[in-house]
Amino acid sequence: MSLDSLEKLFIEELRDIYHAEKQLTRALPRMAKAAESAELQEAFTLHTKETEGQIKRLERVFKEVGQAVRAKRCKGMEGLVEEGKEKMEEEGEPQVLDAALIASAQKIEHYEIAAYGCLRTYAELLGYTEAAQLLQQTLEEEEATDKKLNTLAEGGINEQAASVGAMEEQEEE
Ligand code: FE
Ligand code: FE
Repeated sequence: MSLDSLEKLFIEELRDIYHAEKQLTRALPRMAKAAESAELQEAFTLHTKETEGQIKRLERVFKEVGQAVRAKRCKGMEGLVEEGKEKMEEEGEPQVLDAALIASAQKIEHYEIAAYGCLRTYAELLGYTEAAQLLQQTLEEEEATDKKLNTLAEGGINEQAASVGAMEEQEEE
């Protein structure tokens, strides 16, 4: 597909994020399992449910704009998921691994926030009012998830991770 119109770019990006979301329905439960903190587990489990809803919402968007539901391989999300997986496979202190899980998840959310922000704006410009509203709803969910992860990090997980390092340094002395 040549990108000779905003319409085409919009459809391409829609297929990309659709594939990204599909990947996340598999990655998020793994992240929930890997998390030590019960609150973090809960956040990942809740966002898995939300992600399933976001996929349904994207299917409505495809319909709204008269396109068949189709995914295009999202290499960006593949990379982010792969990096997260590598971290989960590493040995380490659970508190530090939780901080790493939050960092991975926030990178993922920021990717999605950028994607949905662009898609929403393109939909508005193309006159797809209904689609723009649906995309805005998902954008807000992604932003709320990012905020929640911040709250969890700042609410103790990062500090606990920091204290693990400090304890080890003392032991080495
Ligand atoms: Fe999402
Ligand atoms: Fe998300």
